[in-house]
Amino acid sequence: MNKVILNPKRDYSVAHHHPWVFSGAIRSVEGAPGIGDLVSVEDCRGQRLGWGCYSPVSQIRVRMLAFGDCAAPDAAYVSGLISASVGRRANFWVEGRTNGFRLVHGESDGLPGVVVDYYDGWCVVQLSSAGAERWKDVIVQALMTAVPGCRGVYNRSDVDGRAREGLPVEGTTGLLAGEEPPEFIEIHEDAIRYLVDVRKGHKTGFYLDQREARAVVGSFANGADVLNCFCYTGGFGLAARAAGALSVTQLDISEPALALARRNAELDHLCGTACDYVAADVFKQLRLYRDQGRKFDMIVLDPPKFADTKGQLMRATRGYKDINLLAMKLLNPNGILATFSCSGAMSTELFDTVCREAAFDAKRDFQILTRTRQAVDHPVSLAFPEGLYLKGLVLRAVS
Ligand code: SAH
Repeated sequence: MNKVILNPKRDYSVAHHHPWVFSGAIRSVEGAPGIGDLVSVEDCRGQRLGWGCYSPVSQIRVRMLAFGDCAAPDAAYVSGLISASVGRRANFWVEGRTNGFRLVHGESDGLPGVVVDYYDGWCVVQLSSAGAERWKDVIVQALMTAVPGCRGVYNRSDVDGRAREGLPVEGTTGLLAGEEPPEFIEIHEDAIRYLVDVRKGHKTGFYLDQREARAVVGSFANGADVLNCFCYTGGFGLAARAAGALSVTQLDISEPALALARRNAELDHLCGTACDYVAADVFKQLRLYRDQGRKFDMIVLDPPKFADTKGQLMRATRGYKDINLLAMKLLNPNGILATFSCSGAMSTELFDTVCREAAFDAKRDFQILTRTRQAVDHPVSLAFPEGLYLKGLVLRAVS
């Protein structure tokens, strides 16, 4: 049996069900575990703390699959984790308000490195750790069985994190089971419909994590001229328009994303002449609007992840401050800024500080109207605070 023995005083976090064992916490490894192999994780007195999957080249050397002095996880155990996670989303099918939601949210659902999103019958999986890859076939079979009316399982494991795990990134997309999905899967959130490209879209195709924030943005959008920065396929802009925004400018650097935003607006009969699509760099376009004296009643800033690691945080902080400062200056009196950070390395406190400093430099005062976070189908395990990655602030300019 392969064993990982932890250093004294470094067993606290695993004992408290934190799912990551860093290389520095390990005293010794017994046996010769290969990539993704199961290891028994024990404290220095030989007491088993649980079982995890071994990642020989990663800083996160073991990701836990089971806690306590239990039997080694097998296929039935992993299938059980999948069906439990799917079962926790049962209300999404019952309520029927949307047919696009996350079924498995990695560590916080007890399945490190496993993400599964559901789009109208299809499951799209993203396996980013050695252990996740090892259990791939079991996961796929479990989804085909556990997901009501599952039509197919599609792989989108083309994620950068795999290289850090020593896993191949090539050849990680394509059908794994069931039927091929159509070119675009149509999903809806309440009355708004979106087309999702699960083959080439970002992540698994759509930003499901912003579902609740889209509704919040809509609740402040009535009668507003809205600028939706980093719009991707238009989500916030469509939610704003459906809620009564007068006009929406969809801004993104990606032409294919804007093309899909336009198709979504047509599908929903939402925009017509009230929508404008601008293919440009947000950093440049906001400066151009400033120079033109252009103003908006509402601005959404939902940039891509500027920081992957703590090391990139300084540069990321400058990027966030820059766009927030520019956007704050473009707001009409009483205007609303909905601003987000999806960098896990940036804490809620640091994001507040960045926005506070941006407001100071913009010489304007703001109120926090509300905060948002990743939607409920992207839960955060209490034992794993790192699971909170998406933070939002909805601010009103009061001067
Ligand atoms: N708000 C979107 C998700 C944003 S994802 C939603 O709710 O669906 C980030 C988007 O930023 C991507 O579409 C990407 O093309 C775009 N992007 C990245 N860098 C950019 C830049 N410098 N200027 C404009 N758009 C950029």
